[in-house]
Amino acid sequence: MAETILLEIVTPDRLVLSEEVDEVTAPGSEGEFGVLPGHTPFLTTLKVGELTYRKGKEVHHMAVSWGYAEVTPKKVTILAEAAEIAAEIDIERAKAAMEKAEKELKKLSKEDKDYLIEAARLEKSLIRLQVAERTGKTIIH
Ligand code: ATP
Repeated sequence: MAETILLEIVTPDRLVLSEEVDEVTAPGSEGEFGVLPGHTPFLTTLKVGELTYRKGKEVHHMAVSWGYAEVTPKKVTILAEAAEIAAEIDIERAKAAMEKAEKELKKLSKEDKDYLIEAARLEKSLIRLQVAERTGKTIIH
């Protein structure tokens, strides 16, 4: 049997995923990285982005928001502030969050202390919408 990697994704609230997979691609803060079984161990921080994992021919998409990834030859552990599988993303909620963040950002200048907070909210909502679309769901305007 071919070797696999145990992918575990944990947030402060729950164990989001625990599955044997063939390949993982994650949004490292220094750039996206890919992991196959037998990878050299490393530890990295994550940014807001899309995480994908492959099981055979199936590719699954998830949204992750910040955190850490620990890679060992047989396991990838993701400790994220938030993580959602594509099918559980509430599109209307993400759209509302996007619109609210865009509205707030228009009122702020880059020097405002809340600018980065709102920019991060906008980024999270855009990634959630991007990932939700991967399931073939449509965004209703
Ligand atoms: P919102 O502004 O939409 O309420 P938020 O910024 O409060 O979002 P987060 O702090 O990123 O949300 O996440 C809080 C919890 O809600 C996490 O468990 C996250 O997985 C979940 N969550 C946030 N947005 C969505 C969404 N659009 N669909 C499904 N779960 C979501």
